[in-house]
Parts: sequence; C-alpha cells; structure tokens
Amino acid sequence: MESVASPDALITQTRAWRQAGLRIGFVPTMGFLHAGHTSLMDRARGDCDRLVVSIFVNPLQFGPSEDLDTYPRDLAGDAAKCRDHGVDLLFVPERFYPRDFSTGVSVSGVSEGLCGGRRPGHFDGVTTVVARLFGLVQPHVAVFGEKDYQQLAVVRRMTCDLALAVEVVGAPLIRDPDGLALSSRNAYLTPDQRARGLSLNRALTAMADAVASGTRDVPQLLALGREQIRADRLDYLEVRDADSLAPVQTVTGPARALVAAFYGQTRLIDNRALVP
Ligand code: AMP
Repeated sequence: MESVASPDALITQTRAWRQAGLRIGFVPTMGFLHAGHTSLMDRARGDCDRLVVSIFVNPLQFGPSEDLDTYPRDLAGDAAKCRDHGVDLLFVPERFYPRDFSTGVSVSGVSEGLCGGRRPGHFDGVTTVVARLFGLVQPHVAVFGEKDYQQLAVVRRMTCDLALAVEVVGAPLIRDPDGLALSSRNAYLTPDQRARGLSLNRALTAMADAVASGTRDVPQLLALGREQIRADRLDYLEVRDADSLAPVQTVTGPARALVAAFYGQTRLIDNRALVP
C-alpha cells in the first residue's frame, strides 16, 4: 500500500490507473477506522482494480461548538487496517483545500431536516469535501455507509445533479454484537453512556417490529420508540420515506426510522429500515 499526503500525488497515481484502464474504487473517511469502515473497503474491493481510501477530518462539516479538535485519531492503526483490507492508496492530506479555495457545494431538499436541521451547514461541508475528493480521485465507484443514511442520500443527489461520473454505492450499517452502531465517536462514551446508547437500537428495532406486525401510524411508532430511548437528550426521532426522505405520517411503503441523541457531549446517530 502506498500513502500520499498531497493532492498532486493522488491525482498523478489515479490518472495513471485510469489511463491503464483500471477501475478505481474509493472510500472517503475521517479515520479512527472500525469494522464499519472496513466493510465499505471490502465492498469496494470486490468491485474495482485499485482501491483508494482517504482519511481527512474535514473542518467544513463541523459546527463551531462541535468536536473537530477532539475527533479521535489513530493513523498507524488506520494504515494497518487499510493494508489488511486491500487498500492500494491511502490519501491523508497535509493540506486539502487550496489556499484560495472559494467554492461551496450545497444540496437542498434531501439535506433539510434530520441532521441537516440540527447541524446547520453540516451537509454543505460534506458535499463540498466529497465533490473535491471525487475531482481528485475520479473514482468509478465510491462506497458510503447507510450508518449516515441522510449523507448517502445527499451525496447521491449531488452526484446525479452534477452528472459526476461516479457510481455511488450504499453499504449496510455495521453494529457491535450487542447492537450499538459502530462509530468513531463511540470512543468518547463512558461505560454508562455506552450501555444507555444501546437503547437507540432497541427503539429502532421495536419500531421495525411494530411495522412488521401491522402498525402503520407514525405518531404511534414514534411514541413506541421514544419510550425505549435512554439518552441525556433526544435530538430527533423521525420516520421518513426510505428514498426521498420526505416525512411520512403513515407507513405505506419502504420507510426509514432515524434517530440522533446526546450522551453527555457525544452525539450518536442510528437508523433502521421499516418494511411494511
Ligand atoms: P466517517 O469516518 O464517520 O466519516 O465515515 C466514513 C464512511 O464510513 C461513511 O460512508 C460512513 O457512513 C461509513 N460508516 C461509518 N460507520 C459505519 C457503520 N457502523 N457501518 C457502515 N458504515 C459506516
């Protein structure tokens, strides 16, 4: 595995691969990698000749009171995991944005509400960094996790709207054996917070089970979910259309339950399919 720190080195390598007719897969991350991230690498690896992973904690997608400065890092451990999962090129930029960078990419509609509503500017930061990463890597396929379900929808929208020649693939959310959705931010949790964090998956599972056994009324489903959640503060619990992410009052087709909640300062998100 090769590791590069400059956008120019990244461009040079990926251009050579494209010119050789090789299919490039790409997994963008913020590092502190876990089995959720490596599942994306495995998914991409099966669908490409050369696999690129980026590790960049993107300041643009953090709000002023969020955890940019404390975001967990472990570059040596991350590099070992990338090597184990067949990554060909690891991009850990020293300087990602050019000094005079003046562009923002903003998606409306699907980025509104949920995390977009609670974290103003967050998805503008995400689409801006992903657009530049797509420009640098020019991958044939890029894999994103359903853990960040709204992010996946926003990236799909941007890719379609800007006619970017990248196939965006969504990969399933990976959990710890006890049900907690894997997240780099789980490292912040105290044992008590982690134990209570399991209630997010319990709430979503209760909602999915209720839908499977015939409940269709969303207010009833939300009440059922809220009853289960043991958080310091619930940020949101919602049911949305699985594709458009439009709010729904009755589950008539594929839907998604999405939750965000605080445990101390740590904000966890989770989601689950509701299949009538
Ligand atoms: P992050 O490093 O948090 O920016 O995440 C990088 C990519 O990994 C995103 O596409 C996430 O959706 C994905 N990801 C993070 N956690 C998980 C998980 N538990 N299961 C599947 N994908 C995940």
